[in-house]
Amino acid sequence: MEQKKENLIGQEPETTSGRQIKKQPVVVLVGHIDHGKTSILDFIRKSHTAKKETGGITQHIGAYEIERDEKKITFIDTPGHEAFSAMRGRGAKVADIAILVVAADEGVQPQTKEAILHIKKAQIPMIVAINKIDRPTAQSERVKDALSKNDVLLEQRGGKIPSVEVSAKTGKSIPDLLDLILLVAEMENITADVLDQAKGVVIESCLDSKKGPVATILLEKGVLEEENIIGTPSCFGKIKRMENFLGEKVEKVFPGQPVQILGFEKAPIFGEKFKIFPDLETAKQSIEEKKETISIISPEPDQKILNIVLKTDFLGSIEPIEQVLKTLPQEKIILRVLRKDVGDVNLADVKLAETGKALILGFRIKAPALVSETAKKKGIRVLTFDLIYDLVEGVRSFMNRILAPELVRTDFGKLKVLVIFRTEKKRQIVGGRILEGEIKKGLKLEIFRKSEEGEDEKIGTGKIISLEKDKKEIEKGIKGDEIGILYEGEEKIQEEDILVAFEEKRQKLEI
Ligand code: GDP
Repeated sequence: MEQKKENLIGQEPETTSGRQIKKQPVVVLVGHIDHGKTSILDFIRKSHTAKKETGGITQHIGAYEIERDEKKITFIDTPGHEAFSAMRGRGAKVADIAILVVAADEGVQPQTKEAILHIKKAQIPMIVAINKIDRPTAQSERVKDALSKNDVLLEQRGGKIPSVEVSAKTGKSIPDLLDLILLVAEMENITADVLDQAKGVVIESCLDSKKGPVATILLEKGVLEEENIIGTPSCFGKIKRMENFLGEKVEKVFPGQPVQILGFEKAPIFGEKFKIFPDLETAKQSIEEKKETISIISPEPDQKILNIVLKTDFLGSIEPIEQVLKTLPQEKIILRVLRKDVGDVNLADVKLAETGKALILGFRIKAPALVSETAKKKGIRVLTFDLIYDLVEGVRSFMNRILAPELVRTDFGKLKVLVIFRTEKKRQIVGGRILEGEIKKGLKLEIFRKSEEGEDEKIGTGKIISLEKDKKEIEKGIKGDEIGILYEGEEKIQEEDILVAFEEKRQKLEI
């Protein structure tokens, strides 16, 4: 390229032969939670884009591009690893290169292994970024050994996979990582046919309060222009405007460039493939009629169904959440999503949850006070999470609570022991005054005794076999009563002890 420009974003790509162009590589970062994917992406975005731009305000569209050595790279920045696997589930090839991020201190973790499998299935080249090497606890060599054990043979270990040791905190070797991406892209000869019909995939979509339905797309081949009629299996529209992640208008889009498209009649579904149509009528006809039907499940006698109303921040979050929910064991409880939608929990969701006896599950959204109070009154549970991992674990423990009912304790009353009438091996007859509440036959007892420091210490637990008042057997005694208790338990009661009577019941979580 003759002319050197400050910013190549928006410029036409280099042509290799006739209709093939060198495609700017699309890169996805995968790896275990907290190993630094977001931090690396943030560092790259801040150090390689914003400062060159007027104003430097980037918008979150699910992907961004940077430019290095006059070459461009696209980074998918949300929702990470889950998005990648969900898209793979739809058969859409999105990324050209995967960066496996492994923290140098924690090493290979369960999601690292999962990510390795995803990359291998997708058959795309991998680069390993060993992150957090600024940490004193970093042990890069051990990470490399662990990777070898997981069939990821790095170049330094005699394999073919390139790697780089970086720190998203200090920025160390991040430029090397970018160089490595460009090198791999060059070696893999990533190209795209620009004369073919424009085709690609939706990587994020939402209903923007100002812009209306918007979708971020990645073009696989062809060229996309304003006014083109674009359609996915669920919706279509005429492109009104295309913007890059800097909010700048883009007139022509080439493969690999992420752009946000305005003009869809409603927000398309994340992960859907799109193509170009000659006119609106043809695009409309191609829409697959998809009615919101609730799947009919016939559970086995020992199976239960847990209905879910799922609310998320972006449309793009729905699919990965559904995918990860599917990974939960469902032999005993089958999960069924009654509604999936974008936005905060509303009264209509509560109503549906009431009729469908559903759990309301929120991801990166809120349940306004009025809504959560209404839900509480109706006994509907609303669980909200900010991390997919937490959401899955939350649903998992909810399912476990349904299967293994919780032990719920209720305190009834307190008694002060004034006299010990009789002591046997495991039984005692004691007398005392009820200080609070009531003491009933059959309840459990907890014995508390003042320690030398004056603290109430729990000595043990036992059971009330029977009660007596004025030499007559009674069912219960109330505050102020002086009663006798036939107690059974391991520990011996002493005068001055405080006995707390309580009951424990297994409370079933009904669904
Ligand atoms: P993700 O879940 O993989 O996206 O991980 P994050 O980027 O959110 O990082 C998780 C935590 O690790 C955050 O507290 C980061 O500040 C921290 N972190 C990320 N990269 C580095 C690094 O290179 N060095 C250090 N010391 N901390 C890091």
